[in-house]
Amino acid sequence: MLKLMTPGPTRVRENVRMARSLETTNPDLDLEFYEYYRETCELISDLLNTKNPAYILSGEGILGLEAACASLTEPGDRVLVIDNGVFGRGFADFVRIYGGEPVLYTTDYQEIIDAAALKEFLERDHDFKYATVVHCDTPSGRLNPVQDICPLLKSYGILTVVDAVASMFGEPVRVDDWQIDIVCGGSQKALSAPVGLTFVTVSEAAMKAMKERKTPIASFYANLTIFEHYYRDKWFPYTMPISDIYGLRRALENVKEEPQIYERHKQVAEYVRNALQAAGYQLYGNGYSNTVTAMVVPEGKDAKAILNGVAEEAGIMLAGSFDVFAGKLIRIGHMGENANMEDAKLTVEALLKVLSK
Ligand SMILES: *Cc1c(COP(=O)(O)O)cnc(C)c1O
Repeated sequence: MLKLMTPGPTRVRENVRMARSLETTNPDLDLEFYEYYRETCELISDLLNTKNPAYILSGEGILGLEAACASLTEPGDRVLVIDNGVFGRGFADFVRIYGGEPVLYTTDYQEIIDAAALKEFLERDHDFKYATVVHCDTPSGRLNPVQDICPLLKSYGILTVVDAVASMFGEPVRVDDWQIDIVCGGSQKALSAPVGLTFVTVSEAAMKAMKERKTPIASFYANLTIFEHYYRDKWFPYTMPISDIYGLRRALENVKEEPQIYERHKQVAEYVRNALQAAGYQLYGNGYSNTVTAMVVPEGKDAKAILNGVAEEAGIMLAGSFDVFAGKLIRIGHMGENANMEDAKLTVEALLKVLSK
């Protein structure tokens, strides 16, 4: 099997794989499981620096994004979709599906969002129920200054939804300080648990907006209000994937047990960026996330051939990119378990060797 250096799914540590093999109970009926689920949610809130409750949903990362939009959007609602990347723009689809009117604020995909320019836009138009923004837009590797964007949006009374799937646990995320009403995370990125779970934290203001809707939420699976009283009522809206949650819990504990986790990501990311640039290769855009590096495919080279070359040379799997970046970028995912200096060096060496051929 190739060694994963992709920006999710990432490698899964043995203790997480073992946790998933533990004996299971009936998670609908066993009251101890309600305690376990709640403690796991509290650990998520804790690691994301928020007092807001977290909910773990059974579904891949995309479900969290859709659930935020499904739960907040009423037909006719204007929603500000902050777009400087593929995931950024993608939120417009969810808003449309649930009857909202997405208003795209689109900027150069090479640049991170400039809060001062956004402020100018908002001065002219700020009639939005909520806004969506991506922290790390993975296909291009941008890291947006959510810490500036969300307080700005809130100063205009706009609720904030942040996709931090590819940043959290590789970059610090401070939900309360940054005024994020709904943050979306996933199991398979820097957390390094297998694919299959998404989790969100929901502020009081967001929950209030969901409950004060005039029309019902047009989904069951993507309805965040149905989780609100699971603990009081000892009732989950559907049977919880208990083994996935055992694995997630262990992965969260791994994060908690490593106070230097953000420093580790930073060191590895800086090494990769510096090594590629020193060898004369170009990184895409400005404002890099420490979880992924996107390198521009040099003139005359073929992305697929580079990926195959690295796989053959060193047994390492890298990723290309997709959508508007298909064939144009090569991505190294140095997040979670992938983010260690030894593998970063092997990866860079192999990549440079293949590129020089
Ligand atoms: C990985 C990821 C998701 C989850 O979606 P998939 O495309 O199914 O992997 C959502 N948002 C971002 C920014 C991601 O990187």
